[in-house]
Amino acid sequence: MEGRRQARYRWAYVVEGYLCRMPYPLRTPGWVMRLLPGALWRMPVSAEAPAVYLTFDDGPCPGVTEEVLDLLAGHGARGTFFCVGSNVAAHPLLFERIRGEGHAVGNHTHRHLDGWRTGSGSYLEDVREAAQLIGGGLFRPPYGRIRPGQVDRIKSLEPSMRTVMWSLLSGDFDTRLDPQRCADQVLQRIRPGDIVVFHDSLKAAPRIRHALPRVLDHVRTMGWEMLPIA
Ligand SMILES: [Zn+2]
Repeated sequence: MEGRRQARYRWAYVVEGYLCRMPYPLRTPGWVMRLLPGALWRMPVSAEAPAVYLTFDDGPCPGVTEEVLDLLAGHGARGTFFCVGSNVAAHPLLFERIRGEGHAVGNHTHRHLDGWRTGSGSYLEDVREAAQLIGGGLFRPPYGRIRPGQVDRIKSLEPSMRTVMWSLLSGDFDTRLDPQRCADQVLQRIRPGDIVVFHDSLKAAPRIRHALPRVLDHVRTMGWEMLPIA
Protein backbone atom coordinates (compact mmCIF):
# COMPACT_ATOMS: atom_id res chain seq x y z
CA MET A 1 0.00 0.00 0.00
CA GLU A 2 2.79 2.39 0.99
CA GLY A 3 4.65 1.51 -2.18
CA ARG A 4 1.61 2.28 -4.26
CA ARG A 5 1.18 5.64 -2.53
CA GLN A 6 4.81 6.56 -3.16
CA ALA A 7 4.38 5.58 -6.79
CA ARG A 8 1.39 7.93 -6.99
CA TYR A 9 3.47 10.78 -5.56
CA ARG A 10 6.20 10.09 -8.08
CA TRP A 11 3.59 10.35 -10.82
CA ALA A 12 2.35 13.57 -9.27
CA TYR A 13 5.82 15.06 -9.59
CA VAL A 14 6.03 13.91 -13.18
CA VAL A 15 2.83 15.86 -13.83
CA GLU A 16 4.18 18.86 -11.95
CA GLY A 17 7.33 18.89 -14.01
CA TYR A 18 5.21 18.57 -17.10
CA LEU A 19 2.81 21.36 -16.14
CA CYS A 20 5.61 23.72 -15.09
CA ARG A 21 7.64 23.20 -18.23
CA MET A 22 7.67 26.11 -20.65
CA PRO A 23 5.93 26.39 -22.96
CA TYR A 24 3.03 25.03 -20.91
CA PRO A 25 0.68 22.66 -22.71
CA LEU A 26 -2.47 24.20 -24.13
CA ARG A 27 -4.22 20.94 -24.97
CA THR A 28 -4.02 18.32 -22.23
CA PRO A 29 -2.53 15.11 -23.60
CA GLY A 30 -4.29 11.81 -22.96
CA TRP A 31 -1.46 10.43 -20.85
CA VAL A 32 -1.83 13.31 -18.39
CA MET A 33 -5.59 12.70 -18.22
CA ARG A 34 -4.91 9.07 -17.37
CA LEU A 35 -2.86 10.10 -14.32
CA LEU A 36 -6.05 11.33 -12.67
CA PRO A 37 -8.70 9.00 -14.06
CA GLY A 38 -11.18 10.00 -11.34
CA ALA A 39 -11.32 13.58 -12.66
CA LEU A 40 -13.42 15.02 -15.48
CA TRP A 41 -11.16 16.24 -18.30
CA ARG A 42 -13.56 16.45 -21.25
CA MET A 43 -17.29 16.25 -21.75
CA PRO A 44 -19.11 13.72 -23.93
CA VAL A 45 -19.80 15.01 -27.44
CA SER A 46 -23.32 14.97 -28.82
CA ALA A 47 -23.51 14.84 -32.62
CA GLU A 48 -26.97 16.47 -32.59
CA ALA A 49 -26.09 19.28 -30.18
CA PRO A 50 -22.32 19.86 -30.07
CA ALA A 51 -21.25 21.98 -27.11
CA VAL A 52 -18.20 23.46 -25.44
CA TYR A 53 -17.78 24.12 -21.74
CA LEU A 54 -16.15 27.43 -20.82
CA THR A 55 -14.85 27.68 -17.27
CA PHE A 56 -13.69 30.70 -15.28
CA ASP A 57 -11.38 30.32 -12.28
CA ASP A 58 -10.41 32.45 -9.28
CA GLY A 59 -13.37 34.86 -8.99
CA PRO A 60 -15.62 36.42 -8.14
CA CYS A 61 -13.49 39.46 -8.94
CA PRO A 62 -15.14 42.90 -9.10
CA GLY A 63 -14.34 44.68 -12.35
CA VAL A 64 -13.72 41.48 -14.29
CA THR A 65 -16.46 39.00 -13.41
CA GLU A 66 -19.21 41.50 -14.34
CA GLU A 67 -17.67 41.94 -17.79
CA VAL A 68 -17.44 38.19 -18.28
CA LEU A 69 -21.07 37.77 -17.23
CA ASP A 70 -22.20 40.53 -19.62
CA LEU A 71 -20.29 38.93 -22.50
CA LEU A 72 -21.73 35.49 -21.78
CA ALA A 73 -25.26 36.87 -21.54
CA GLY A 74 -24.80 38.77 -24.80
CA HIS A 75 -23.89 35.53 -26.58
CA GLY A 76 -26.50 33.30 -24.98
CA ALA A 77 -23.67 31.38 -23.32
CA ARG A 78 -23.53 29.75 -19.95
CA GLY A 79 -20.37 28.56 -18.24
CA THR A 80 -18.92 27.26 -15.01
CA PHE A 81 -17.24 29.49 -12.43
CA PHE A 82 -14.73 27.83 -10.08
CA CYS A 83 -14.80 30.32 -7.25
CA VAL A 84 -12.29 30.90 -4.45
CA GLY A 85 -14.16 30.72 -1.14
CA SER A 86 -12.50 33.83 0.31
CA ASN A 87 -13.56 35.81 -2.79
CA VAL A 88 -17.13 34.55 -2.41
CA ALA A 89 -17.09 35.71 1.22
CA ALA A 90 -15.81 39.13 0.15
CA HIS A 91 -18.16 39.57 -2.83
CA PRO A 92 -21.37 37.67 -2.05
CA LEU A 93 -23.59 39.73 -4.36
CA LEU A 94 -21.36 39.06 -7.34
CA PHE A 95 -21.43 35.37 -6.49
CA GLU A 96 -25.24 35.50 -6.37
CA ARG A 97 -25.28 37.21 -9.75
CA ILE A 98 -23.23 34.35 -11.26
CA ARG A 99 -25.69 31.80 -9.96
CA GLY A 100 -28.71 33.92 -10.82
CA GLU A 101 -27.71 34.04 -14.48
CA GLY A 102 -27.77 30.27 -14.89
CA HIS A 103 -24.09 29.46 -14.64
CA ALA A 104 -22.71 26.54 -12.67
CA VAL A 105 -20.43 27.25 -9.73
CA GLY A 106 -17.67 25.09 -8.35
CA ASN A 107 -15.30 25.00 -5.41
CA HIS A 108 -11.72 26.21 -6.06
CA THR A 109 -10.67 25.91 -2.38
CA HIS A 110 -11.08 28.72 0.17
CA ARG A 111 -7.53 30.09 -0.02
CA HIS A 112 -6.41 28.96 -3.49
CA LEU A 113 -4.18 26.25 -2.07
CA ASP A 114 -1.63 24.19 -3.96
CA GLY A 115 -2.53 20.55 -3.29
CA TRP A 116 1.04 19.35 -3.79
CA ARG A 117 2.38 21.72 -1.15
CA THR A 118 -0.41 21.34 1.41
CA GLY A 119 -1.00 18.45 3.77
CA SER A 120 -4.12 16.47 2.93
CA GLY A 121 -5.82 17.32 6.24
CA SER A 122 -5.37 21.09 5.79
CA TYR A 123 -6.33 20.84 2.14
CA LEU A 124 -9.54 18.99 2.84
CA GLU A 125 -10.43 21.42 5.63
CA ASP A 126 -9.98 24.33 3.21
CA VAL A 127 -12.14 22.62 0.57
CA ARG A 128 -14.80 22.03 3.22
CA GLU A 129 -14.71 25.72 4.25
CA ALA A 130 -15.27 26.81 0.65
CA ALA A 131 -18.03 24.21 0.22
CA GLN A 132 -20.02 25.88 2.98
CA LEU A 133 -20.23 29.00 0.81
CA ILE A 134 -20.25 27.52 -2.67
CA GLY A 135 -22.03 24.22 -2.19
CA GLY A 136 -20.99 20.80 -3.37
CA GLY A 137 -21.02 19.33 -6.82
CA LEU A 138 -17.91 20.52 -8.64
CA PHE A 139 -14.34 21.03 -7.54
CA ARG A 140 -11.27 22.25 -9.41
CA PRO A 141 -7.85 22.19 -7.72
CA PRO A 142 -5.90 25.47 -8.00
CA TYR A 143 -3.01 25.13 -10.48
CA GLY A 144 -4.45 21.71 -11.38
CA ARG A 145 -2.23 20.37 -8.61
CA ILE A 146 -3.84 17.62 -6.63
CA ARG A 147 -2.65 14.21 -5.55
CA PRO A 148 -4.79 11.20 -6.50
CA GLY A 149 -5.25 10.48 -2.79
CA GLN A 150 -6.72 13.95 -2.29
CA VAL A 151 -9.22 13.32 -5.11
CA ASP A 152 -10.29 10.18 -3.26
CA ARG A 153 -10.63 12.05 0.04
CA ILE A 154 -12.72 14.80 -1.53
CA LYS A 155 -15.01 12.08 -2.87
CA SER A 156 -15.31 10.61 0.59
CA LEU A 157 -16.01 14.09 2.01
CA GLU A 158 -18.83 14.57 -0.47
CA PRO A 159 -19.58 11.55 -2.68
CA SER A 160 -21.35 13.64 -5.32
CA MET A 161 -18.42 16.06 -5.71
CA ARG A 162 -16.68 15.78 -9.07
CA THR A 163 -13.13 16.97 -9.67
CA VAL A 164 -13.04 18.93 -12.92
CA MET A 165 -9.79 19.50 -14.80
CA TRP A 166 -9.68 20.69 -18.43
CA SER A 167 -8.83 19.76 -21.99
CA LEU A 168 -7.79 23.23 -23.22
CA LEU A 169 -6.03 26.17 -21.55
CA SER A 170 -6.46 29.69 -22.90
CA GLY A 171 -3.18 30.80 -21.33
CA ASP A 172 -4.87 34.02 -20.15
CA PHE A 173 -2.95 33.72 -16.85
CA ASP A 174 0.32 34.20 -18.75
CA THR A 175 1.23 37.87 -18.38
CA ARG A 176 3.84 37.55 -21.15
CA LEU A 177 1.21 36.50 -23.66
CA ASP A 178 -0.09 38.92 -26.28
CA PRO A 179 -3.92 39.17 -26.00
CA GLN A 180 -4.43 38.28 -29.68
CA ARG A 181 -2.14 35.29 -29.32
CA CYS A 182 -4.26 34.19 -26.35
CA ALA A 183 -7.39 34.42 -28.51
CA ASP A 184 -5.75 32.57 -31.39
CA GLN A 185 -4.58 29.75 -29.12
CA VAL A 186 -8.19 28.95 -28.30
CA LEU A 187 -9.68 29.71 -31.72
CA GLN A 188 -7.27 27.33 -33.45
CA ARG A 189 -7.91 24.43 -31.09
CA ILE A 190 -11.39 24.54 -29.57
CA ARG A 191 -13.74 21.72 -30.48
CA PRO A 192 -16.93 20.18 -29.09
CA GLY A 193 -16.54 18.50 -25.73
CA ASP A 194 -13.73 20.78 -24.65
CA ILE A 195 -13.52 22.08 -21.10
CA VAL A 196 -11.72 25.41 -21.57
CA VAL A 197 -10.01 27.37 -18.79
CA PHE A 198 -10.20 31.16 -18.48
CA HIS A 199 -9.67 33.29 -15.37
CA ASP A 200 -11.94 36.09 -14.16
CA SER A 201 -9.06 37.72 -12.31
CA LEU A 202 -7.23 41.04 -12.48
CA LYS A 203 -4.08 39.23 -13.59
CA ALA A 204 -5.81 37.70 -16.61
CA ALA A 205 -8.00 40.72 -17.40
CA PRO A 206 -6.03 42.15 -20.37
CA ARG A 207 -6.13 38.78 -22.13
CA ILE A 208 -9.61 37.52 -21.21
CA ARG A 209 -11.14 40.89 -22.21
CA HIS A 210 -9.66 40.50 -25.67
CA ALA A 211 -9.95 36.74 -26.16
CA LEU A 212 -13.35 35.89 -24.70
CA PRO A 213 -15.53 37.94 -27.08
CA ARG A 214 -13.67 36.44 -30.04
CA VAL A 215 -14.06 32.91 -28.72
CA LEU A 216 -17.76 33.48 -28.04
CA ASP A 217 -18.27 34.80 -31.60
CA HIS A 218 -16.42 31.82 -33.05
CA VAL A 219 -18.33 29.21 -31.06
CA ARG A 220 -21.63 30.81 -31.95
CA THR A 221 -20.66 30.90 -35.64
CA MET A 222 -19.80 27.20 -35.46
CA GLY A 223 -23.29 26.54 -34.08
CA TRP A 224 -22.01 24.96 -30.89
CA GLU A 225 -23.74 25.49 -27.58
CA MET A 226 -21.92 26.90 -24.55
CA LEU A 227 -23.11 25.04 -21.50
CA PRO A 228 -22.34 24.80 -17.81
CA ILE A 229 -20.83 21.56 -16.53
CA ALA A 230 -23.68 19.63 -15.00
ZN1 LIG B 1 -7.03 29.19 -9.66
